[in-house]
Amino acid sequence: VSRYLTDFEPIQCLGRGGFGLVFEVRNRLDDCHYAVKRIQLPNSEEAREKVMREVKALAKLDNPHIVRYFHAWIECPPPVQRNVPKTPNYTRSDAKMFLFIQMQLCRKESLREWLRAHVSHRDSYQTIQMFNEIVRAVEYVHLQGLIHRDLKPSNIFFAPDGAIKIGDFGLVTAMAEEASYSPMSPEGNVICGGGFSPFQRTHTDQVGTQLYMSPEQIEGQPYNHKVDIYSLGLILVELLWPLSTQMEQVTVISQLRKLKFPQGFIEKYPEEAVLLNKMLSRNPDERPTTYGIRASTPLRIYQDSTVEIPEYLHF
Ligand code: ATP
Ligand code: MG
Ligand code: MG
Repeated sequence: VSRYLTDFEPIQCLGRGGFGLVFEVRNRLDDCHYAVKRIQLPNSEEAREKVMREVKALAKLDNPHIVRYFHAWIECPPPVQRNVPKTPNYTRSDAKMFLFIQMQLCRKESLREWLRAHVSHRDSYQTIQMFNEIVRAVEYVHLQGLIHRDLKPSNIFFAPDGAIKIGDFGLVTAMAEEASYSPMSPEGNVICGGGFSPFQRTHTDQVGTQLYMSPEQIEGQPYNHKVDIYSLGLILVELLWPLSTQMEQVTVISQLRKLKFPQGFIEKYPEEAVLLNKMLSRNPDERPTTYGIRASTPLRIYQDSTVEIPEYLHF
């Protein structure tokens, strides 16, 4: 018996990724609506472990700006009768296994759709405030010793009340255990296991864009939590600088990756440009931590005045 079908009434499909399918469902018992992500478990034990990382990370995280996790379970749905010839060496162990993750239902439109829908009349006070919420969430992730590794507008959601919620922890990884990472140290730099396994490569190539990924992560170099800071830099530009077409978006971001700002940007946002030059630095050590971002001139006014970020923690 499928727990998914007995406990939930499917409402609609919200989206799909390389391995995942996300549904809006209604829980028959509590009558609330949730998002349920269904991921097909790969056959290899190693790849399976990586999929399980998403659920293990999400379950541990408890922050107002991270998609709330409720429950997870594994199901092996009964085989569907189809007129497809069986592969010669089909065995029972090939039966498909699915991981279900029940989480908070967010708006169907992610930050990606929001950016497309708000090209004109964008309020820079509101967008910097949104960015501040994203930074706070990433700071929380880093403080848990985790790296998100896939920050981009399509993985940033909105709760029904409009609050920012970071989601899609499908590429999350732990910072190297042996290394002494401390977000409280001025640089907070730590080297983590580099490169992609073939499974992860498939995962990102099939679905996601690498447009927001740091150079070192794309190149398979060793990297640390500063990969998230790089992605945050590109997200900040997109928040401040409306881009009306996908073509324009790809062009502008590709230029930013070479530290070339759109025409007029530096004049309009001189202080943001100073911060962005550091966030988008090729050298991860030159990128600020989330503390550094929050202490920077453009974000300073959004910080709780009772919390004083000491000078030595800024970068
Ligand atoms: P990808 O790797 O391509 O980013 P994915 O398979 O890892 O995708 P998610 O990014 O988590 O999956 O979700 C895919 C889509 O499902 C999202 O773009 C969004 O439209 C929808 N979605 C995911 N989680 C939620 C949620 N909690 N509430 C509402 N919609 C969601
Ligand atoms: Mg995603
Ligand atoms: Mg994903």
